[in-house]
Amino acid sequence: MSKKKLTKRELQERQIFEDKKNKRTLRISFGLLFVFIILYLVFHTFWYDTKFAYRQYAFYGKEVPTELVCMNGDKLLNHKSLKLSYKGKDYFFCNRDCYEHLVNHYKEDAFIPDPLSGDTVCKADALLGLKNKGEPEIVYFQNRKTFNQYYKSKNK
Ligand SMILES: [Zn+2]
Repeated sequence: MSKKKLTKRELQERQIFEDKKNKRTLRISFGLLFVFIILYLVFHTFWYDTKFAYRQYAFYGKEVPTELVCMNGDKLLNHKSLKLSYKGKDYFFCNRDCYEHLVNHYKEDAFIPDPLSGDTVCKADALLGLKNKGEPEIVYFQNRKTFNQYYKSKNK
């Protein structure tokens, strides 16, 4: 029997073997796709929360970017804030409702005492920092000096 000439039986066996191989490849491909979809969903769902949690530590003692806070609630946000002007100054909010609140309660909402000096500062002019490590509360400083002193005294 020559090697090139396969019997009917051999051909059938080869066919079965090929089929099995294809099925396995298909199963692995689907398996990988499935894992990928799950990972993507998990990543997508928790990414903002993870980043948010991380920032509550990473920003402590550093200047917090205004575009990540709501100046009505005085909180760090897990998303970019909305920049809106009032009386010629830029303020940042989670949404339009917070802006409306500040406009309607301008004196109480737009001004706040510096936590160190006690002097009243306008939130639009202030340096922003985290009140405590691992928490989203924002404090407003009148300048770099009170900012630095605040964290120095907290770290003692
Ligand atoms: Zn808000």
